[in-house]
Amino acid sequence: MSTDRYPFREIEAKWQQIWEDRKQFRAVEDPARPKFYCLEMFPYPSGRIHMGHVRVYAIGDLLARYKWMRGFNVLHPMGWDAFGLPAENAAIEHGVHPAIWTYENIDYMRSQLKKLGISYDWDRELATCDPSYYKWEQLVFIKMLERGLAYRRRSTVNWCPSCQTVLANEQVEAGRCWRCDSEVTPREIEGWFFKITAYADELLAWCDRLVGWPERVITMQRNWIGRSEGAEFELAVAGRADARIRVFTTRPDTVFGMTYAVLAPEHPLVDRLLGDETERRAVAEFRAEVARQSEIERLAADRPKRGLRLRAKVVNPFNGAEIPLFLADYVLMGYGTGAIMAVPGEDQRDWDFARQHDLPIIETVKRPEGWAGEAYAGDGVKINSGFLDGLSVADAKRAAIDWIVQRAIGVAKVNYRLRDWGISRQRYWGAPIPVLYCETCGMVPEAEENLPVVLPRDVQLSGKRGSPLAEVASFVNATCPKCGGKARRETDTMDTFVESSWYFLRYASPRHDRGMFERSAAEYWMPVDQYIGGIEHAVLHLLYARFYTKVLRDLGMVKVDEPFTALLSQGMVIKDGAKMSKSKGNVVDPDDLIRTFGADTARLFSLFAAPPEKDLDWNDHGVEGASRFLNRVWRFVFSHIDALKGASRRAAPTTDEGRAFRRTIHETIKRVTDDIERDFHFNTAISAVMELVNAIYAFESAAADRMAGGERASLLREAVESVLLLLGPIAPHVSEELWSELGHRESLFKQPWPTPDAGALVRKEVTLVVQVDGKVRSRLQVDVDAPEERIQRLALEDDKVQPWVRQRAVERVVVVANRLVNIVTRA
Ligand SMILES: [Zn+2]
Ligand SMILES: [Zn+2]
Repeated sequence: MSTDRYPFREIEAKWQQIWEDRKQFRAVEDPARPKFYCLEMFPYPSGRIHMGHVRVYAIGDLLARYKWMRGFNVLHPMGWDAFGLPAENAAIEHGVHPAIWTYENIDYMRSQLKKLGISYDWDRELATCDPSYYKWEQLVFIKMLERGLAYRRRSTVNWCPSCQTVLANEQVEAGRCWRCDSEVTPREIEGWFFKITAYADELLAWCDRLVGWPERVITMQRNWIGRSEGAEFELAVAGRADARIRVFTTRPDTVFGMTYAVLAPEHPLVDRLLGDETERRAVAEFRAEVARQSEIERLAADRPKRGLRLRAKVVNPFNGAEIPLFLADYVLMGYGTGAIMAVPGEDQRDWDFARQHDLPIIETVKRPEGWAGEAYAGDGVKINSGFLDGLSVADAKRAAIDWIVQRAIGVAKVNYRLRDWGISRQRYWGAPIPVLYCETCGMVPEAEENLPVVLPRDVQLSGKRGSPLAEVASFVNATCPKCGGKARRETDTMDTFVESSWYFLRYASPRHDRGMFERSAAEYWMPVDQYIGGIEHAVLHLLYARFYTKVLRDLGMVKVDEPFTALLSQGMVIKDGAKMSKSKGNVVDPDDLIRTFGADTARLFSLFAAPPEKDLDWNDHGVEGASRFLNRVWRFVFSHIDALKGASRRAAPTTDEGRAFRRTIHETIKRVTDDIERDFHFNTAISAVMELVNAIYAFESAAADRMAGGERASLLREAVESVLLLLGPIAPHVSEELWSELGHRESLFKQPWPTPDAGALVRKEVTLVVQVDGKVRSRLQVDVDAPEERIQRLALEDDKVQPWVRQRAVERVVVVANRLVNIVTRA
C-alpha cells in the first residue's frame, strides 16, 4: 500500500465491506442504553444522488457516528419516498413501468450511498411503494374515516391540464405549474381530505415547545396555521332579504370605518347577486383573469389589487350605511368566510384598494402626531365610531363583539388560515384510497382483511385523461365488502405526503407484519432525536408529519405528541451563484467526485465549506484542499508509523514544550466537541482539527533534537489518535484505516469520544515587564511554561516596544523567568 499518497479507492471499499460484514451499524433496541434516533429526510428515487444529498447525509452521518462514540444506541435508517409523479412521467416518456423505473433507481442510488460509507442500518431499508408499507396507511385511512378525520367533498383545486393533476398552492408559481410550466386552471372536483384543521390549536400550541427547532421554521409553521381572534358576523345585502354575507374580522372595533365590502370571486353567493347578462359577463371575465394567478400572488402585499364593483350593495350593521360591494382578487374563498368588511383606515390592503378605486377612507383610531399617507394599524383612542368613541382599541373590540352578539348578528370567533389537507390525486403511482362505492350501500370502506388494496401492475399510462386506474376494469369492478353486491373502487390515490408522514415510525420495526409498527419498538425509538432536511420542507411535510403523529396518538398507537425533537434545516448547494440544476449546467456529479477524490474528501468538503444552515457555495479549490488535508494526515502517520506504534501512551509531559503541545491537543478536543454539540458548527470543528495537524507537524520538527524520544513519541501518538477520533465521524474510512494501522484491533467507532483532560487545559499566565535599555516600555501576558524564544519574540514584536527597537540594532534579550524581559540595544 502506498505510503505517500492516500489510496482512497482501496480503503473506502475495504472499510465499507468490513462495516457491512460486521453489521456494525445495526440498531437493536436496548432499554439499558440511552437511544439516539438520527434521521435524514428520505430521498425520492429520482435516479441519481446529487450534491445536496451528499451534504445532508454527511451531516447525518457525522452526528450518528459521533453519538455512537458518545455511548448512545443509535438508530440511523434509510429508505425511499418511492411514490410520485416523476415515475409516471418517465413511464409515459420512455415506456418503462413506474415500478421498474423506481426500483432500478433505488438500486442505483443505494449503490451510490454505499460508496459514501454512511452508517445506515441497511436492514431497515424500506420503500413506500411496497404494498406491505402502504397497507398500514390504508388501515389508518379507514380509522380516520370512521372518526370523521378523513372525508370527501367537492372543492375548487389548482389543476394542471398537462400533468393532469391537482397542485398544492405552493406548486403554483406565477399561475403556472412548477413542474411543467403549463397554465394552471381552477377546477371543481370531488376529493378526499384529512381534517388537519381539527388539530390547528394543538399544532400551534406545540410550536412553543419545539425548542430544538430553528426559529425560522417555527415561525413559518405558525404563519401557515395563522390563528387570529376576532368576530364573525353578517352583512345584509340591501333590498335582498334572502342574501346575507358572513365576514370575519380581527378588528371588530373598526366596523364604523367599513366603507365597502368584498367577496372572493369564487364566493357561491356571487351568482345570485348578479343583475343582468352584462354584469354576468363582466364577472365571468374577471374570474378568468383572477384564476390565472396563484394564491400566493393574490395575497402578495406589493402588487395592485384588481377589483370589480357589483351593482348590489351591502349594509353596515353598525351605522346602517349602504356601501359598495366588490369582487377582488386579494380575498380568497378558502380563507375565513371568503368575504371581508373593508376598513381602509386601519388596513393597508384595504387602503391601497380604496385609493385605486376612489372609495372613502374613514379613520377610526386617532393617529400619532405626524402620521399620514397610509393605514394605521396601531393602538390609540377610537374616533368616528359612535358608541365606541373614546375607548382604547382593546376595549372597543370587546364592546363591539358584545354589540354583535346581543343583536344576534354574529359571534366571537377564532379563525385559522390552515385548511384541510387535500390528499386525492388523480394519478396512478400512489397508494390507492381504500374505499368502494356500492350500488346499494353507497360509500363503503374496504374490509380490513382485504387490505392492502394493491395497485394493479397492468395499466396504460398516457397522461392524457384523468386517473389511469379508472381504465383498469379488474381494479375498478369490485365486490362490496358489506353486502357482496357490485361496487366500483375509488380510483384516486393518496398524496405522497401521506407516506412521508409516518415512515420514521415504520423504521422502528420495518418488517413487522401485524401492524403499522411494533409498539414496543416505536416506544423505544420515538421521537426522532435529530431530524435533518431542507428548508423547502419547513411547512408541508413537517406539518403533515406532526399532524399524522397526533392522529396515531389519538388512535392509541403511539405515545409521543410530536415526532421530531430537534430539527436541522440545511442550506442548498449552489455553484456560480445558482442552485445546482441540470438546466443551469452547473451540476457536480457525486460519482465523479468520489471517483477522483474519494468519499471522505467529498464529505469533508461539504461539511467544511459552510455551516450547515447556510448555503454551500461549490468551489473546486475547496475540494482539492480537503483532499490535500487528508493526504497530509495520512503522510504523517505513515512517515512516523514505527515511532507512533512503539510509543507508550499518555505519559505526563515533563517539559514546558510538551505541556504546551498537550494543552493544544486537549483544547482541540474541547473545541470540536463544543462545536458539534452547540449549533452544529462542523466547519469550525474541522478548522480546529486542521490546526492541530499543523501543530503536530510543527511540534515534530521543533522538538526533534531537544526532547527525549519517549516523551515526544508518546505525545505525538496522543495527538495523532485524537485527530483520528475527532476526524472519524467526518472522514470515516481514512480515519478507520489509520486507526487500525496504529495497531488497534477494534473499530474506531467503538472507541469512546475523547474528553478533554482538565489538567492538560490549565493555563497559568504571568505578567512580564519589558524593558528597553533599562526603561520599562511594556508588559507581556505569557504562559508560565512558554519557551524563552517565544517570550523574546513576543517582546520584540510588541507594539509599545517596537518604536524603541526599530531604528537600533538589538544586542541581546535577557529573560528573567516569570518577571522580566530586558532588551539591550547598541546605541
Ligand atoms: Zn404540470
Ligand atoms: Zn353494498
